[in-house]
Amino acid sequence: MTALAVVAPVDIAALRATLAAEAGPVRFIAGGTDMLIAGRPLAGTGLLVDLARVAGMAFISTDDADVRIGGATTVAALAADCGLRARIPALCEAAGQCGSVQIRNRATIGGNIANAAPAADLMPVLAAAGTRLALLKNDGTQYEAALCEYLPDSGHLIMEVILPGNALLPCSAFVKLGPRRDLTISRLNLAMLAEFQNSHFGTVRIAAGALGPVPLRMHLADAALGGRKLEPATLREFLSALATEVDAAIPGRNSQIYKRRAVAGLGLDLIAQAVGLSPRDRLFEEAVE
Ligand SMILES: Cc1cc2nc3c(=O)[nH]c(=O)nc-3n(C[C@H](O)[C@H](O)[C@H](O)COP(=O)(O)OP(=O)(O)OC[C@H]3O[C@@H](n4cnc5c(N)ncnc54)[C@H](O)[C@@H]3O)c2cc1C
Repeated sequence: MTALAVVAPVDIAALRATLAAEAGPVRFIAGGTDMLIAGRPLAGTGLLVDLARVAGMAFISTDDADVRIGGATTVAALAADCGLRARIPALCEAAGQCGSVQIRNRATIGGNIANAAPAADLMPVLAAAGTRLALLKNDGTQYEAALCEYLPDSGHLIMEVILPGNALLPCSAFVKLGPRRDLTISRLNLAMLAEFQNSHFGTVRIAAGALGPVPLRMHLADAALGGRKLEPATLREFLSALATEVDAAIPGRNSQIYKRRAVAGLGLDLIAQAVGLSPRDRLFEEAVE
């Protein structure tokens, strides 16, 4: 049995050559914040490819119609990027609420997707944005797949995360609820992309995390807001839709009652952030009176 070998390619050509030359199992490590935590032993054999130094895998491109993000881009870079904030503020919000400064400086978007944790904070935003992934197989074949089609166990490398321009909407928001305020894993998180003008919603897309193994697109909640005026009656229908979605997602689970209540407050915070109102605005109080 051969020992685990570790390589750190410096550019994409070297990365491709490394993958093509390896006949055995290949694993990737980027920031290592999921992979190296206690209780997760590394495989003893095969090849471990360190992505942290691959030039050309960490970038944020917002000038073209589609937003493109390199798979090894750190969460800290996402949180700080002004161009990204102008196109999809929810992704910067979600990134800014991941872990601590130290974690964000190491953690990457590719790792957040590939680790496939139900509570991963970037995932609901990416799901609501209709994200596509540029993936690389070991044999050098590159292909694109929708985020929801990506299989973390495939071992295919996430080269780029693509947010299609035609799916990005002018307003967006991300909110999370955890057991404490900072450095907290989400018990529930919500993301929203929306059109909103003259107090009316246009298209709305909402997704939730920590309600199942993958982010949940909340179509009932979309429909409760889409095309409607922002007023207490609309918000009441929205809250009812959110509760219905939680009930359908986790029927009989211990957390169902808690999450069914929690999603109401989180949902109103989500709308407040997306449309630029205070969460204490009278409108939200009237919705729950
Ligand atoms: C203290 C602490 C707090 C945390 N808080 C949060 C939080 O608030 N919110 C949150 O969402 N997460 C949180 N996390 C989890 C973690 O930081 C994120 O999931 C992070 O984005 C993982 O990225 P990484 O680069 O460190 O992944 P790694 O640990 O390097 O890799 C994780 C997995 O992804 C695979 N992988 C990595 N990059 C790629 C790629 N480009 N293509 C294919 N596979 C790849 C690896 O093979 C591995 O299986 C926390 C972790 C810790 C330790």
